[in-house]
Amino acid sequence: MTDQTKEYGASGPSCPFSISEELTNTRRDPEENVYANALAQFDKALQHIRIKEGVAETLRYPKRELSVTFPVVMDSGDIKIFRGYRVHHSAVRGPTKGGIRYSPDVTLDEVRALAMWMTWKCALMDLPYGGAKGGVVVDPKQLSMRELENLTRRYTTEISIMIGPDSDIPAPDMGTNSQIMAWIMDTYSMHRGFSVPAVVTGKPVEIGGSLGRTEATGRGVAFTLAEALQLKGINPSQATVAVQGFGNVGSVAARLAHEMGMKIVAVSGSTGGVYNDQGLDPVLVNNFRQQSGCVSGFPRCDEITNAELLTIDCDVLVVAAVENQITARNADLIKAKIVAEGANGPVTPVADEILNDRGIFVIPDILCNAGGVTVSYLEWVQDLQSFFWPVEEINNKLRTLMHKGFESVMACAEKHRVSAREAALILAIRRIADAIMIRGIYP
Ligand code: NAD
Repeated sequence: MTDQTKEYGASGPSCPFSISEELTNTRRDPEENVYANALAQFDKALQHIRIKEGVAETLRYPKRELSVTFPVVMDSGDIKIFRGYRVHHSAVRGPTKGGIRYSPDVTLDEVRALAMWMTWKCALMDLPYGGAKGGVVVDPKQLSMRELENLTRRYTTEISIMIGPDSDIPAPDMGTNSQIMAWIMDTYSMHRGFSVPAVVTGKPVEIGGSLGRTEATGRGVAFTLAEALQLKGINPSQATVAVQGFGNVGSVAARLAHEMGMKIVAVSGSTGGVYNDQGLDPVLVNNFRQQSGCVSGFPRCDEITNAELLTIDCDVLVVAAVENQITARNADLIKAKIVAEGANGPVTPVADEILNDRGIFVIPDILCNAGGVTVSYLEWVQDLQSFFWPVEEINNKLRTLMHKGFESVMACAEKHRVSAREAALILAIRRIADAIMIRGIYP
C-alpha cells in the first residue's frame, strides 16, 4: 500500500455534495426551491406579455451550465474535494454577467435561479448583458487565506472555458469580495499571458476596479428606498428601518439610509441581531462587526433573532441576506410598510402575494439590488477603454440609471395594474423576447 492510499483510507473521501440533493435537485420545502420560485414569477409575468410560446419556453432553461469537482491542497497537506458551478442563463442581449457565491448551501438549482434573475436584472436596467451566476460549495470562513486563494485559482481555471471579457464576466456575491476577484483576474490573465482586467468586475481599483463599486449595491438599495418612501408619502427623517443581513449590501444600505435621516432600529447577521428603538449608528455597528465578526453584543441593545428582526414594528424592512426569508410562515407577521429586497429572492412567490394583499410595497430584487451590476457595467466599460472616471461621476450615473429603472417600473405597474415585481419582470422579459425575435432562431 502506498502512503497516498494509506492516507486516503485513514480519513476517508470527502464528499462536496449530497447525492440525494443531486438526484432531486430540490430543497426540502417546495416553497424554498428558488429555481421553481423564479419560474413561478416568470409564468406570472407572462400573463401580461404577448410572446411566442417557444420563446417563452427558451427562457425557462439555462443556456448552458457547468458543474466542476476539483481538489485543493489544504494547509494540513490534505487534499480536499470541492464542488462548483457556473451557469449561463441567456446571452441574447450580450455577454453574460453574474456574481460568484461561496456558501456551504449553494446548489445547482440556486445558481440556475440566480442566473435567470441576472438576465432579468440586466435587461430591466437596459445593460447590454445576459445573465449568469457561479457558486462554490464552501464556507469561506473555515479556510485560511492561502486555502481560499488556492480554491479560487483552481475554480477559475475549471470554469475558464465559460468566462472571458467578451463572453461571461463574474463579480462578487455572498461570501466573495474584491480580493477574490483579484485572484480570478490574475489567474485568467496568467493563462492568457497578458492582463485582462475586464474579465471580472468588483476588483480592487489598483488593478482596474471602479471607484464606487464596493458600495454600489447598497447605494442602489438606498436610492430605491428613497424613491419608495416618496411614493408612499413617508418623510425619510420619520422613517424607521430594520436591516437583515449586515454584510456588504446591508451595511452600506443602512449607512446611506442613516445619512438620509432614517432611523436604523435593528440589524442582523447570520448568528442573530441587535435592536434599539432609539436608533443605531451603522458606522459604529460596522466597526464593531469588523472587530468581533458579528453584530451580536453591540452595546446598549437588545439581542434579537433573525426571525424576530423580520417582524419588528418599523416602516422599512431591508432584507439583504439570503433567499426565502419571508415565506408563507411569516408574511402575515411583517409590520413594515416597505420591503426592500437587497438580497436576491428573499421573498417567496406565496409570501409576495400575501404582502401585496396586505398593501405592503415590495421593491423587487431585480430593481432594488441592481446598483451592483450597474456599476459593474461601468467598471467593465472603463476597463475596455482603459480610461477611468471619478467617483462622483460613477455615483451620478448610478443615481440616474436607478431613477430611470424605478420610474419605468412604476409606470408599467400603473399601466398593467400589477405589482412592482410583475412590472419589472414584464419590462425585462419583453426586452429579451424582442432581442430573440430580432436576432432570429439559429440556424
Ligand atoms: P455578504 O456575504 O457581504 O453579507 C451577507 C450577510 O448576510 C452577512 O452579514 C451574513 O452574516 C448574513 N447572513 C447570511 N445568512 C444569513 C441568514 N440566514 N440570516 C440572516 N443573515 C444572514 O453578502 P452580500 O454581498 O452583502 O450579499 C447579500 C445578498 O445581496 C445576497 O443575496 C446577494 O446575492 C445579494 N446581492 C449582492 C450583490 C453584491 O454586489 N455584493 C449584488 C446584488 C445582490
